[in-house]
Amino acid sequence: VDSAAQTPAAILQGPPLDGPRAHATHKGSYGDVAVIGGAPGMAGAALLAACAALHGGAGRVFVALLDPQAMPVDTSQPELMLRCASSLDLAPMTAVCGCGGGDAVRHLLPKVFSTAAHAVIDADALNSIATDTQLQTLLRARTGRDGSARATVLTPHPLEAARLLGASAVQIQADRLGAAQQLVERFGCVVVLKGSGTVIAAPGQVAAINPTGNARLATAGTGDVLAGMIGARLAAGRPAFQAACEAVYQHGLAADRWPEDRALTAGELAAANR
Ligand code: AMP
Ligand code: MG
Repeated sequence: VDSAAQTPAAILQGPPLDGPRAHATHKGSYGDVAVIGGAPGMAGAALLAACAALHGGAGRVFVALLDPQAMPVDTSQPELMLRCASSLDLAPMTAVCGCGGGDAVRHLLPKVFSTAAHAVIDADALNSIATDTQLQTLLRARTGRDGSARATVLTPHPLEAARLLGASAVQIQADRLGAAQQLVERFGCVVVLKGSGTVIAAPGQVAAINPTGNARLATAGTGDVLAGMIGARLAAGRPAFQAACEAVYQHGLAADRWPEDRALTAGELAAANR
């Protein structure tokens, strides 16, 4: 990227997903999201992403928890369908991967990359890619030789971006636009480089810098919520760059509007967002 970047209100503030729905639609019209993550001790991360996808308007949300001892139902969110990852047909779905997935998520990524219609790749899924050249090749293969692509959004924070680029987090932060663009070139995906002034970059697009959000988002689980919000938009058929820009903007806006005298938790952020 040149040092120029856009802050295009038009891209960052698309029509809300909670607007009027055409009458003769059904849940299949709004898409399926499959969250894959939640290794032992980290189920909450996957459930937060799934909750954010539900509130983002997804038609159906499935969750494949990578903890063999996980409960078969989340009684506090009975809308979620907890399934075994191997039983999910990802071909028509938006896969949201990472979210507390630990190392176990690595083994599911080849299936995700080769079958999922759309994908959001976060957290431990990004860390798996950073150390596995075969996965890198499979990820790049999601962009077809004819330029067609199955929409894929990478959502690294600075340390995850550093691992992907073989750099340090300090180097990433010194040139955030450049780092996001390097990731776009390396993987051919939409990239959301998180943090204060989140950068959204994509092949053939001028990068955007998000103007919303604040340090109240610096709490566990808010990144998982963002991944679910992007997933809901992809499932609804938004183009990937637009889906990423809108979700990042709304995620930050909810934090900017949060009452000053109350702490913001990721669970409340997921429920506050659309
Ligand atoms: P993660 O690091 O994956 O937990 O994601 C944290 C989320 O909170 C990302 O969407 C960040 O952009 C956002 N966030 C964290 N700290 C700040 C901050 N100081 N200003 C704005 N956004 C932030
Ligand atoms: Mg995270």
